[in-house]
Amino acid sequence: MFDTHADFADHALVTARQEKASGLKAIIAVHNENRGPAIGGCRILPYPTLDDALRDVLRLSRGMTYKNAIADIPYGGGKAIIIADPRREKTETLLEAMGDFVESLGGRYITSFDSGTTLEDVQVIARRTRHAAGFLPEAGNASGSTALGVYHCMRSAAGKIWGSASLAGRRIAVQGVGNVGERLARILAHEGADLVLADTDAKRAEALAADIGAQVVGDEAILRETCDILAPCALGGVLSSATIPDLKAKAIVGGANNQLARPEDDARLARRGILYCPDYLANAGGIINLHYQRSRWDPDAVERHVASLGETFREVIARSESEGRPTGEIADRIAEERFARRTKALEGAL
Ligand code: NAD
Repeated sequence: MFDTHADFADHALVTARQEKASGLKAIIAVHNENRGPAIGGCRILPYPTLDDALRDVLRLSRGMTYKNAIADIPYGGGKAIIIADPRREKTETLLEAMGDFVESLGGRYITSFDSGTTLEDVQVIARRTRHAAGFLPEAGNASGSTALGVYHCMRSAAGKIWGSASLAGRRIAVQGVGNVGERLARILAHEGADLVLADTDAKRAEALAADIGAQVVGDEAILRETCDILAPCALGGVLSSATIPDLKAKAIVGGANNQLARPEDDARLARRGILYCPDYLANAGGIINLHYQRSRWDPDAVERHVASLGETFREVIARSESEGRPTGEIADRIAEERFARRTKALEGAL
């Protein structure tokens, strides 16, 4: 197992629980705690094997360490998975059992929602643990903060490429108009961008397009659309050796997780002269929102903090140019610099 899962070596804690009574089969992974307790969502998926589940939770918890560090919030990275079919097997008993599991770690891991879990599910989990976040009523849907972060990173890309951060008149292609994509499209329409949308749910894309004045193309065509900025807001792995040669965008800035199919696609984009905003930087607005839900809710502070993602992207671009390395690699390095050592200001609190 230690040979097949290279990520194991870096993790602070990986723990599993199986219970007959509730049917719970779950793994919690805490990757790094140097900046604070680990935070990350709980995913429910019917993984075909335990090996697949373990690989996913290790990869995702590591990703959260990078995201929380780049977002500059006082948390480490963690993630939980429940092996179950969310449509058939998600019961209150199962979620409460997950709450007991989270509570048993005494706050080293804070959970929230992810694929297969909703805000309401997290509230059920929270009946049994104090370490669950994301359902403060006044905070609304954290996807709004995610979309806002993508928008600020787009402005930084525009500033770099065209000398003005304004997105008015820029042709922007949005792949996926769900929680994040729809909110992003509305912000961009308000700024006067020329929008083209796609969603596998064509009716959804058409309804939004009619409302905000956008064009709709098929979900296959959107990646090849001639545009200034492409915003992947649907699924992962869309930037690959198969798709990158046909991209016509000058910049990629979107909300989807794991946009690069393989790490080397970062350099592949750079070689094509396409400015790539690392996905976990562009979409960190949601986790910033959760941080303020847990500490002290202050909408203005959330907005300021989310806007700072655009500044971080400018720093990434500047270092990428001066060091001649792709943007994804530079973002990783900045995050690693931030989580490499236990943060002094946090030491007392831990
Ligand atoms: P969502 O399910 O609400 O929306 C995704 C949309 O994409 C849906 O409308 C779906 O029909 C569409 N879609 C799926 N496959 C598609 C394809 N091939 N082409 C075009 N459209 C397609 O999800 P969401 O919450 O908006 O999240 C979108 C992405 O952003 C995910 O990768 C998610 O992990 C990531 N993300 C979301 C948040 C957040 O705050 N919601 C935060 C960080 C990252």
